[in-house]
Amino acid sequence: MKNILVTGGMGFIGSHTVIALIEAGFNVIILDNLCNSEITTLKQIEKISGHYPEFYFANLMHKASIEAVFMQQEIHGVIHFAALKAVGESVDKPLSYYQNNLVGTLNLCQVMQEFNVFNLVFSSSATVYGDKNPIPYKEDMPLSATSPYGQSKVMIEQMLQDLHLSEPRWNISLLRYFNPIGAHSSGLLGENPKGIPNNLMPYIAQVATGQRQALGIFGNDYNTPDGTGIRDYIHVMDLANGHLKALAQLASQNSANQTNRNKTSVEAYNLGAGHGYSVLEVVKAFENATGVHIPFKKLARRAGDIAAFYADTHKANKVLDWQVERGLTQMCSDTWRWQLNLSKRANS
Ligand code: NAD
Ligand code: UDP
Repeated sequence: MKNILVTGGMGFIGSHTVIALIEAGFNVIILDNLCNSEITTLKQIEKISGHYPEFYFANLMHKASIEAVFMQQEIHGVIHFAALKAVGESVDKPLSYYQNNLVGTLNLCQVMQEFNVFNLVFSSSATVYGDKNPIPYKEDMPLSATSPYGQSKVMIEQMLQDLHLSEPRWNISLLRYFNPIGAHSSGLLGENPKGIPNNLMPYIAQVATGQRQALGIFGNDYNTPDGTGIRDYIHVMDLANGHLKALAQLASQNSANQTNRNKTSVEAYNLGAGHGYSVLEVVKAFENATGVHIPFKKLARRAGDIAAFYADTHKANKVLDWQVERGLTQMCSDTWRWQLNLSKRANS
């Protein structure tokens, strides 16, 4: 499996995975409509990897644009990141989220089937565990959703299960990400949210540069040791490596399938660190890693938030032979290096 199509490869997680793929010797083809990313990311990828990946400016809403890519390229597998991802926005614009995430995936799968490409790694999310399951979350727990965004992931997972039932050549990994943060250690690639950041780490990073006055901490009365919410943060490069492991697993299932049918599957894997940090612990870790003070104020709970969740990672550790290698300190220092470069670029 050499030629990999990466939908959403210009985005935060996609671009870091592109680096990991190039470094591992894959031939990467990116498809993205840049609705939440910048064309300059291609240059950054080239600076880091020495390779300018092939790029198609295309929208998954247009099936013909996807077909054009498959006609021009011999694709062996697809990593499908492209989606809208803001939970709050999905509550306000459910139709946009269902359309983009569901129809985009439908179109992609139809084209893959047309071109006999059956290897797929799908970006799912810990949000599919909903708000009823006990922690740590395990892959076989029942799924539910608390937002249209989360529901789109639950529905796509279900659709991919049905697809495999109908055509066993489909070989699919559902990667359930926990909280990806951090940046490439070069400081050249990272997360650059448009507008006010929704997520904790980008917000902290903007407070550190002085772009925002203080972090608002959503809730300090949760049933957690310090009262603030606990999440399972994972370095984006560790997450990127999880995709390489998933591809290797699909490849080994394909070869096993040649001698012994029914080796292909749809399997879900949690990609997280397997333990959580509170908001206050993240703030402290950022201050310690960077020497920058982060002022904060305590605010009311954010609607839809739950107190704490983290992953049971045994399945990914064992089946994919994958573990995280980077801790919270590195997540903070890599974020900071990237944020400083970003501010320098904005001021020059
Ligand atoms: P991102 O917004 O940075 O990247 C997504 C990319 O997809 C963007 O470059 C965007 O332009 C592109 N895209 C969106 N719709 C498209 C379309 N119709 N056609 C073509 N390109 C399109 O997001 P990310 O943080 O890199 O997330 C990647 C994936 O991981 C998403 O599926 C997201 O739901 C999932 N995920 C992210 C997180 C997180 O915290 N970042 C957590 C869990 C799951
Ligand atoms: N959080 C916060 N202030 C912010 C953003 C987030 O206190 O400006 C908290 C949030 O309530 C949660 C944690 O930080 O407890 C992680 O939030 P994020 O949005 O990054 O991830 P998610 O809640 O989607 O897992």
